Amino acid sequence: MKIAMPTAYITHADCLKHEMGAHHPERPARLTSVDDQLISSGVGEHLTRFDAPLASDEQLARVHPLEYVRAIREAAPSRGTVHLDPDTAMNPFTLQAALRAAGAAVMAADLVLQNKFQSAFCNVRPPGHHACRARPMGFCIFNNVAVAARHALAEHGLERVAIIDFDVHHGNGTEDIFEGDDSVLMASIFQHPFYPYSGTDSPASNMVNIPLAAGAGSQQFREAVTGAWMPALEAFRPQLVLFSAGFDAHQEDDMAMLRLSDADYGWVTRQVKAVAERHAAGRIVSLLEGGYALSALGRSVVQHLRVLAGLDR
Ligand SMILES: [Zn+2]
Repeated sequence: MKIAMPTAYITHADCLKHEMGAHHPERPARLTSVDDQLISSGVGEHLTRFDAPLASDEQLARVHPLEYVRAIREAAPSRGTVHLDPDTAMNPFTLQAALRAAGAAVMAADLVLQNKFQSAFCNVRPPGHHACRARPMGFCIFNNVAVAARHALAEHGLERVAIIDFDVHHGNGTEDIFEGDDSVLMASIFQHPFYPYSGTDSPASNMVNIPLAAGAGSQQFREAVTGAWMPALEAFRPQLVLFSAGFDAHQEDDMAMLRLSDADYGWVTRQVKAVAERHAAGRIVSLLEGGYALSALGRSVVQHLRVLAGLDR
């Protein structure tokens, strides 16, 4: 089948209205910095833009108990801010933003699995990978990548979905949701010991967790990908590859202490894309997680999307 445009780009203006306080690092400017870099690099011209729909309760309930979804809806303030955990707050626009972020994940999976696009990137917030089954945490409310994975399995009949998480923080929520679930393989790197201090205590066999020490850079990262992720992915033969794409392991990002470069994000995308081409008909869905140094975030997303859209050849 001929695919007219390789990569879809899903976002929504509602995601800019969610704010957690004047100095909170997970801020609306993250999304605009990605947009700006996509425009100035020219990569944006090669993407097809979509507005994210709202996720339905049915889609969320594949990951989160309905009581949790209802509790989040009820916690949403009509004015002011309410805190869900010390790092995670809701303003009057947060619920819409969170539903759009999870809805983007569903739309991305649909566009790719219906062969309308080869890949899709969701420039959305709040992020998702710390959200556990029934607990908001670490800037996250709904686990967007998990919603995409379960949608692909339930709605499109897939049997094997891989989740690649290169955010500097361990995706403890995604692990909470999928540990022991053989339909999902999760491969991640994360700084350790570091927030949320999980991922190293005898993880389940479907978790390929590679902790990296503070100060580790390109070489240690690439060794983890080549030595641990690649063999596990080849053996698993995913039918769809999802990225929990956090860019806070960048050396310019002072949220943490890993030292990746812009080029590392292009490199890892190429490695994983090769696996997707061998086993998954090239189908990739990528969702923004962390990344707080605005310039480095935008540039790194450009590297990631250049590869996804096939502009690096
Ligand atoms: Zn992070």
